[in-house]
Amino acid sequence: MNAQKTIIILGGGTGGLVAANELKKKAGEKARVILIDKNPNHIYAPSFLWLMLGKRQAEKIQKPLSLLKRKGIEFINEEIIKINPESKLVKTQNQNLQYDYLIVSLGAELVPEKIPGLAESGYNLYALKGVEKLRDDLENFAGGKVAIVVSSLPFKCPAAPYEAAFLLNERFQERGISGKTEINIYTPETLPLPSAGPDIGKAVAEMLAERKIGFNPETKLVSVNPQKRELQFSAQGGSASGGENGKTTSFDLLVFIPPHQGPKVMKDSGLGNEAGWIPVDKETLKTKYDTVFAIGDVIAATVASGKPRPKAGVFAHYEAEVVAENIARELKRLPADKKYDGHASCFLETGFGKAGFAHGNFYHAPAPAIKMKRSGRIWHWGKILFEKYWLWKWF
Ligand SMILES: Cc1cc2nc3c(=O)[nH]c(=O)nc-3n(C[C@H](O)[C@H](O)[C@H](O)COP(=O)(O)OP(=O)(O)OC[C@H]3O[C@@H](n4cnc5c(N)ncnc54)[C@H](O)[C@@H]3O)c2cc1C
Repeated sequence: MNAQKTIIILGGGTGGLVAANELKKKAGEKARVILIDKNPNHIYAPSFLWLMLGKRQAEKIQKPLSLLKRKGIEFINEEIIKINPESKLVKTQNQNLQYDYLIVSLGAELVPEKIPGLAESGYNLYALKGVEKLRDDLENFAGGKVAIVVSSLPFKCPAAPYEAAFLLNERFQERGISGKTEINIYTPETLPLPSAGPDIGKAVAEMLAERKIGFNPETKLVSVNPQKRELQFSAQGGSASGGENGKTTSFDLLVFIPPHQGPKVMKDSGLGNEAGWIPVDKETLKTKYDTVFAIGDVIAATVASGKPRPKAGVFAHYEAEVVAENIARELKRLPADKKYDGHASCFLETGFGKAGFAHGNFYHAPAPAIKMKRSGRIWHWGKILFEKYWLWKWF
């Protein structure tokens, strides 16, 4: 009798890559591991910020998922178009695949088109092509008003817009155009990185102020006028601190974080909620189906206050390890008792070869217990080492 079970992993981004590796390592021949992604390559998104400055090449921050074959992991480079958890079936463009266990790590869908005028007016910081275009056009930027806009909540990597501001500030100073350049961040958040608690938020806000980077909280972008190069903010929902609400603001260079939504295929499968995010037990990552797990950006988990747990690769990584361990244990008829406790960490580039480092437990009650190490060269080097480690370790 063939005791091998089929585990299908949807998505070869951060969570899917770790889950596939860990599962094959821990379950060996007991598991047939199939990874499906529409993209032939795994892309390491944290390096987009260095790519923006020309410090990385696109081909150096991605690797073909087909390389996983050498670890015994099957890779299917196709789009997933349907999931039927009742009949344990995944449908891709060309195949119908049956699974025993399913791990969903499809991330967030980016939908710039939700805000009129946005895509044609600026650079998408969260898409490889957008960052490459920004890098090329920065060379000819002679100074002016730079707007970094978080277009809506939730968005992945809460640190990225602030890192982009610090690194652009560095570049403008190096090029001698900082005197005629003004950087402003516009965001619906009340403070930077609000899910890490007010102390971290205030520390980052101070770093922005030291560098004369404008911080405009509680601003909600409704549209962009590409001809006039103007941002239109909503008049609703802001507080007194949201000074831009209801106003239009002009810009010369627009860098944006696009609206995010849960993958459409999730909503259609009945696994996702209205917005496409998947409710799970946040310790075991189990969905309402016993053999279906979801990890990473696609899940709808909350911290103790009821606010969403941030979307970041570090969560996808640790959640993948928990799910892989538990499935491997089930295959070996051992108790599947590993749980994710909410610990996480994150580097925050602050410019000029320095970075900060935030670490702690996001599920700590009554509030996340996060500490931030002072910005220094060591954390910047830590971030570089982690990038090298990541693209070596999982391939
Ligand atoms: C600029 C930037 C900087 C960042 N920096 C950090 C950082 O420093 N630290 C950190 O922790 N996080 C960081 N992040 C966030 C991190 O990249 C994400 O949170 C993480 O990748 C989420 O992992 P995931 O597996 O949930 O989804 P993803 O990594 O987004 O993977 C989803 C995969 O699913 C595939 N997919 C989606 N739909 C389909 C479909 N229908 N069919 C087939 N395939 C599909 C996609 O092609 C993709 O490969 C950063 C993100 C950006 C954009």
